[in-house]
Amino acid sequence: MAYQRILRLFELAESHRHIHPERSREYMRLAQRIAMRYRVKMPRELKMRVCKGCSTYLVPSVTMRVRIRDGYVLYTCLLCGREKRYPYR
Ligand SMILES: [Zn+2]
Repeated sequence: MAYQRILRLFELAESHRHIHPERSREYMRLAQRIAMRYRVKMPRELKMRVCKGCSTYLVPSVTMRVRIRDGYVLYTCLLCGREKRYPYR
């Protein structure tokens, strides 16, 4: 149930990201809150799309920068500068 709501919020964030980027962020905040309250683990591919620092919905080359370093991928949020690293496969 909670998981369905989270998925739905990601869909909404995706569809609003051009017209209302600030609304996308609200959706992401809500998704994070739901995940916490219901102790739902957010799937990795969804987690990768939210900035931990400012909850921005991350879109490559729009709200985040993607860099490939040796062994990992570096994502940088363009709004708050927070970085995420993922091992590169
Ligand atoms: Zn950020």
